[in-house]
Amino acid sequence: MERTLSIIKPDGVERGLIGEVVQRFEKAGIRIVAMKMRHLTKKEAEAFYAVHKERPFFDSLTTYMSSGPIVVMVLEGENVIQRNRELMGATNPADAAPGTIRKDFALDVEKNTVHGSDAPETAQKEIAFFFSELEIC
Ligand code: ATP
Ligand code: MG
Repeated sequence: MERTLSIIKPDGVERGLIGEVVQRFEKAGIRIVAMKMRHLTKKEAEAFYAVHKERPFFDSLTTYMSSGPIVVMVLEGENVIQRNRELMGATNPADAAPGTIRKDFALDVEKNTVHGSDAPETAQKEIAFFFSELEIC
């Protein structure tokens, strides 16, 4: 069964949207097989987003991602990487389809409430960044 990493970003946790996001996964029949809260250091956020280190928004993004607690989850289900990205909607909420998490809740292209892995290899890497196999049910 496929797995993906989901993160409720600082803007989502701060605005009390944990339940809203979790409910969308559960209603979609996606299984949450691990979940915890973390407050990343700047260095940890930089390590997590290392693929973006040459992008102009890297410093702002990693400062933001280390600005407050996040909720990290492992989601499991058939085709869950793609299904999670459909539930999230486009990176920029201005481009996100109606009914998606980012359309409904995101503040802007950076503070966009959720993260989801984009491919099987990145999902595996991102899950291992936060969870040991023992922590996944
Ligand atoms: P994520 O990887 O968080 O699931 P994504 O895959 O939709 O989102 P990426 O292109 O991987 O988007 O960008 C990673 C994150 O960097 C985005 O979710 C957003 O928080 C931030 N970001 C992306 N583009 C911009 C931008 N133009 N300006 C500011 N922040 C951005
Ligand atoms: Mg991405």
